[in-house]
Amino acid sequence: SGQPLDAIEARLSALTTENRNIHERDCFNLNPATNVMNPRAEAALGSGLGARPSLGYPGEKYEMGLEAIEQIEIIAAELAAQVFGAKYAEIRVPSGAIANLYAFMVAAKPGDCIIAPPPSIGGHVTHHGAGAAGLYGIVTHPAPVDATNYTVDVAKLREDALRLKPKMITIGASLNLFPHPIREIRAIADEVGALVLFDAAHMSGMIAGQAWQQPLEEGAHLMTMSTYKSLGGPPSGLIVTNDAAIAKRLDAIAYPGLTANFDAAKSASLAITLLDWKAFGRDYAQMMAATAKALAEALCERQIPVYARERGITTSHQFAIEAHSYGGGQAAAQKLRAINILSCGIGLPLPEVAGDVNGLRLGTPEIVRFGMTSADMPELAGYIAEGLNGSRPAEAIARDVTAFRGRFRELCFMR
Ligand code: PLP
Repeated sequence: SGQPLDAIEARLSALTTENRNIHERDCFNLNPATNVMNPRAEAALGSGLGARPSLGYPGEKYEMGLEAIEQIEIIAAELAAQVFGAKYAEIRVPSGAIANLYAFMVAAKPGDCIIAPPPSIGGHVTHHGAGAAGLYGIVTHPAPVDATNYTVDVAKLREDALRLKPKMITIGASLNLFPHPIREIRAIADEVGALVLFDAAHMSGMIAGQAWQQPLEEGAHLMTMSTYKSLGGPPSGLIVTNDAAIAKRLDAIAYPGLTANFDAAKSASLAITLLDWKAFGRDYAQMMAATAKALAEALCERQIPVYARERGITTSHQFAIEAHSYGGGQAAAQKLRAINILSCGIGLPLPEVAGDVNGLRLGTPEIVRFGMTSADMPELAGYIAEGLNGSRPAEAIARDVTAFRGRFRELCFMR
């Protein structure tokens, strides 16, 4: 407002640097909904590919000069199918949220019903009224909760499904601690003629690295995901399936349906990321899970109320803290922000906290990329416990955290 244009541009440049400093210099990022990109994948994003047209199918593009972009699309889709052990991959998907919209459009028409996990077990808004499902006109029935296993209650789900006759049953959430009962859900879906969607927005890396259940093998008809969370790729989406009819419908939804030109820079960047998964994925995924468990256990030793302690805390790269005594999950995340640790709130099947969520979610995709291992978790847990309990001034803890962060500058695995 009133500023010279070059001053605004200089400000934007400074903010870009500030953002990188927050995430890669000053703070430990324990938010599992984000990751650091392979610098070569990041360079592909800024390479100018994305400003070029890409309308149409490889071999029959509408505009001229797209021979290279055609090859990039083919390579990215082939790699995506390989990494997820699927027959078909749809890469023309701008985000995890839009991936879910595509899936709902495959399964249901406006007015139809689906069953999806509620927020108390990490169910995502895209599956519900305010998100893609609701905006498309689908009515979402919240799945019954199995609190012990932080997933859906299969027996009650069957009763609901027989009564409601949903077109789709979804599973997979923003927090995933233990394997989900995908086979049982598929059996229920078959009884009522529904499709099963596994939402792997968060689990895509763990699945690519074979450190988590394989949803398509266990019966999911299709799997949607974000590509920038545990997968560590560009900010985009992806859908895989083994079903030719579903793949055909996804293809028509992608083009000429909801995309015309699709960002070829994202496709190239995704392809580079997927090469990383082929080369290093298993080690990275196992390391994410082991490091999450080590951090959670170190927090338990410091009397922090880690969720699902009796059940084993987690088998994934994520876990949660019961946030009631910190004023709620977002309030707890603010306390950690003040000591240079990044995180955010999440719903847990526990008493609610007025005006906040009741859990704090932590995860390891980014700290493992920067070379942290289980051996570093006791020190990190010490700072988190101090920050949550307020046992030292936040500024002093923040200084120690940033000094500790300085020991983990180099990227590991995917660089
Ligand atoms: N599904 C789940 C379970 C999520 O946690 C998210 C998170 O953002 C999404 C879908 C949406 O993904 P995106 O941010 O890629 O749109």
